[in-house]
Amino acid sequence: MTKRALITGITGQDGAYLARLLLDEGYEVFGAYRRSASLTTWRLNEIGALDHVKFEPFELAEYNNILRTLTKIEPDEVYNLAAQSFVGVSFEQPLYTSNIDGIGVTRLLEAIRTVNPNMKMYQASTSEMFGKVQAVPQSENTPFYPRSPYGVAKLYAHWMSVNYRESHDMFTVSGILFNHESPLRGLEFVTRKITSTLARISIDGRGELELGNLNAQRDWGFAGDYMRAAFLMMQQEIAQDFVIASGRTHSVRDFVNAAANALDMEIDWSGENENEVGRNKKTGDVVVRVNPKFWRPAEVELLLGDPSKAREILGWQAEVSFEDLVSKMVVADIKNVEEGRLPSRSLE
Ligand code: NAP
Repeated sequence: MTKRALITGITGQDGAYLARLLLDEGYEVFGAYRRSASLTTWRLNEIGALDHVKFEPFELAEYNNILRTLTKIEPDEVYNLAAQSFVGVSFEQPLYTSNIDGIGVTRLLEAIRTVNPNMKMYQASTSEMFGKVQAVPQSENTPFYPRSPYGVAKLYAHWMSVNYRESHDMFTVSGILFNHESPLRGLEFVTRKITSTLARISIDGRGELELGNLNAQRDWGFAGDYMRAAFLMMQQEIAQDFVIASGRTHSVRDFVNAAANALDMEIDWSGENENEVGRNKKTGDVVVRVNPKFWRPAEVELLLGDPSKAREILGWQAEVSFEDLVSKMVVADIKNVEEGRLPSRSLE
């Protein structure tokens, strides 16, 4: 019989890649979306999944809405990707973030337990739960130390998922995913901000890229690879949690250099802290500037994941390298600029 999957957060980056993968695997895919004035469908459209996903209005803040959705669809697998996913925003909206990313997950778990505890659930956990890292690299056994309301809320949800597995014998898995990017990444996230702004500068020679902490180091991978890992976790006999990462770390400055490189641009860095600037070596123009407005009240300096467990048990490994990922994003953003598909300035 055709399997049914419900994806919450269908309009986001991961929702698109996961929908494509599950459709290719022969699933009937239900996309849970948040009602708003305009539904964000461009990602699903881009990936060729828009016409094949069945949409259901869904709100993680509403227990009865979750209950009705599960009762109506009766999915075999629920992938909970919905979240207030911006770390920076979570410092400004800690209560909202806790409600959606934390308690929202308990609502979902409780609704599954009520409707049919045999439904499997995937929870989108995050490397931000490691925050002020207690060991390098970080594995499934590394103690957590979140540094943002987002990380704290996600950690609560993570333990709730473990708790429902252990207390109610439910199949709940958490993927502790390190940063993953793609041409479908939201423009507000630092990687996409870098590729879209530099693509624009390389084409019309105008504009500056404003960034926060250039020294922050992240373990970056490709979203398509990471959604394959999420799917594999749900196909195991035994429910358990996995770290999904590339096993390599790069600074934000490295990301800028790689993006510039893909655009045949070389950056000369000078100055320190908030006075650091990056100049286009050819023209001497400042193209990158540090703006302390983007610094966070508590920074996560270094994330580096150890994906050995996923490699051994799931047979998973990242297929797209850091360099290929950056280049994929740059190529897509050049096309976006040329076709007038990017806003001419960032919202911040
Ligand atoms: P994203 O692009 O920001 O997508 C988030 C999705 O959640 C959007 O579809 C959004 O809908 C939906 N949503 C937000 N609030 C909701 C609510 N109250 N009720 C129902 N839906 C709601 O995020 P992503 O990059 O795809 O990430 C997917 C998940 O993985 C998130 O939970 C994120 O925290 C987690 N994660 C991401 C990364 C990463 O590097 N990408 C790493 C680790 C974990 P709208 O379109 O209406 O806003």
